[in-house]
Amino acid sequence: MITVLRIGHRPERDKRITTHVALVSRAFGADKIIVDRVDDKLKKTIDNVTKKFGGNFEIEFGNYMEKIRKFKGAKVHLTMYGIPLEDRISEIKKFENIMVIVGSEKVPRIVYEMADFNIAVKNQPHSEVSALSIFLDRLGREKVLRGDLKIIPEERGKKVLRIPDRKECLSLLEKYGADDRLKRHLIMCSRVALTTAKGCDVDERLLEAGALLHDIGRTVTQSIFHGVEGYKILKREGMDESLARFCSTHVGAGLLKSTARKLKLPDQDYIPRTTEEKIVCNSDTLLKGDKVVRIDEIAKDYRGKGLASEIPRLKRLYSYLEKKCQLNIEELLNLNVQ
Ligand code: SAM
Repeated sequence: MITVLRIGHRPERDKRITTHVALVSRAFGADKIIVDRVDDKLKKTIDNVTKKFGGNFEIEFGNYMEKIRKFKGAKVHLTMYGIPLEDRISEIKKFENIMVIVGSEKVPRIVYEMADFNIAVKNQPHSEVSALSIFLDRLGREKVLRGDLKIIPEERGKKVLRIPDRKECLSLLEKYGADDRLKRHLIMCSRVALTTAKGCDVDERLLEAGALLHDIGRTVTQSIFHGVEGYKILKREGMDESLARFCSTHVGAGLLKSTARKLKLPDQDYIPRTTEEKIVCNSDTLLKGDKVVRIDEIAKDYRGKGLASEIPRLKRLYSYLEKKCQLNIEELLNLNVQ
């Protein structure tokens, strides 16, 4: 747990700089910031960024002397007068609980004495924002942050993906007239997908939306074309390609180009490629309506339908997720739609 303690905040003068200290804390892996003067505007700004861009970052206010005294863990005060960061970072890294203290104007002597480490990021005067960024970066506790918005890196331009939450997905299904049976299947698929994903690193928000919407095309047709129909619906609704692809890539555990051509499907990619796409595809495969069944039972059904040639691919995907996410079928068999 990393806590940043910002001392000497003056709401009327330090608005921007304290906001930046808090933004750096959140983005570079801290869990919490404590600011020594109450500032409701600051709290609102930071809570808003956290909601939009993710994480469990907290902001609280309180007397800094008391916070330092009560803190259990390594107290690291950043100051240009301290010992160079390079000389102490490996020792600091050994602590699980770290409080990083940054000042604004002159920092009282007592803070230097209460700190376990007084650390300089170069023995030159600069700023709490730069010192904190470099310190947290070297500490290397950055984690993946996922919220309502996801930035898609671009060479030029700005691409921000908005992933609908569960409620929005359900109302979209409602809008397209999904019946109860379909909704139960999709809710169960999201449960299976999220349970599978516990053992691997995926974008859970995208995964849940993908699982809930992958069959939206069934509101148009029950044929194999439901995948492309769903893809078209999501595109029409202004959803990103990464979400629309769940519709086209879940059918038959991913259709090869040659199969798609034979079926007269439009010329596009039907293979699940991301881990999220693979999980949704596999979760859907394991479901008969809203019941999870074993892969061997699915294989038997495929054989019965004259689709034996597809079985190795189904099984390969299943084994891949057993390895990658420690998929545990017993756990999935215990899930139910309620
Ligand atoms: N002379 C002030 C003092 O008492 O340390 C410096 C104030 S400086 C504008 C504000 C804060 O930036 C400091 O309290 C410290 O946390 C941080 N800071 C500035 N330069 C730093 C450096 N070279 N290394 C580590 N922290 C630094």
